[in-house]
Amino acid sequence: MDLFSCLSPFVFCSFASGSSGNCYYVGKQDEGVLVDVGISAQQILTGLRKNDLSPQCIKAILITHDHIDHVKGLEVLTKQYPIPIFAHADCFQGIKEGKATKKVDAALFNEIEPMQGFTICDIDILAFPVMHDGRGAVGYHFGFEGHTLTIATDIGMLDKVVKEQIRRADNIVIESNYDVEMLEKGSYPYLLKQRIAGPFGHLSNLESARFVAEIYHAGIKNIMLCHLSENNNTPERAMHSLYEQFRLKRVHLDASTSIFPLPRHKDTGFVYL
Ligand SMILES: [Zn+2]
Ligand SMILES: [Zn+2]
Repeated sequence: MDLFSCLSPFVFCSFASGSSGNCYYVGKQDEGVLVDVGISAQQILTGLRKNDLSPQCIKAILITHDHIDHVKGLEVLTKQYPIPIFAHADCFQGIKEGKATKKVDAALFNEIEPMQGFTICDIDILAFPVMHDGRGAVGYHFGFEGHTLTIATDIGMLDKVVKEQIRRADNIVIESNYDVEMLEKGSYPYLLKQRIAGPFGHLSNLESARFVAEIYHAGIKNIMLCHLSENNNTPERAMHSLYEQFRLKRVHLDASTSIFPLPRHKDTGFVYL
């Protein structure tokens, strides 16, 4: 058996993650979907090329919500490559009204119903509702040949539904947006701080770490911390929070589990799920 036949056929790749732009690839090595396109079309095309993917490999674009850091490249990318777009109806409304996205071709829209599964490229996909203040905000759970992944970005709070969808995945992309101390002491206006830390904003390192440490088991292959704030967090702080919770809860970390923060601007290459 050669090296490549041992690797999972199901891969994830982050092209960008954070409040300045989010874009992920989920699929097989030769076809799959993009989750969010919050960077320029040019950056997306570069990301695809670097990973031996072409726009033709992308069978759908799944959108989590209509905030600009998730949809910025949608109009230009789909004008060049008319790829079907999947999102919640309220999210489409937001996209149609968005300054940077209002010219997106409505014929490309496919409405998703939260908690009703669908399949693209043999990948089972389920959108689940999240308490974030973007319109029609959802997270996504994926399954392919027994491998599972949940992407929970911009989730505001860990309610029952979100917890359940993360718990059932053996690969997790979870928001770890801000360090509580950095946000409190930082220069953001009071109302913005309230919004970020509130139930419809973002998850802190601590909230995210506590939950991951609570549900951790040796079958989890990858824990990827996403959407780190540029001003109120550092990758070191996010990772430290998580290891601290593992220590406090006396969790033994299995050698087969990888834990890492998704870089803000650099692509990760294929992560085998
Ligand atoms: Zn965001
Ligand atoms: Zn958002």
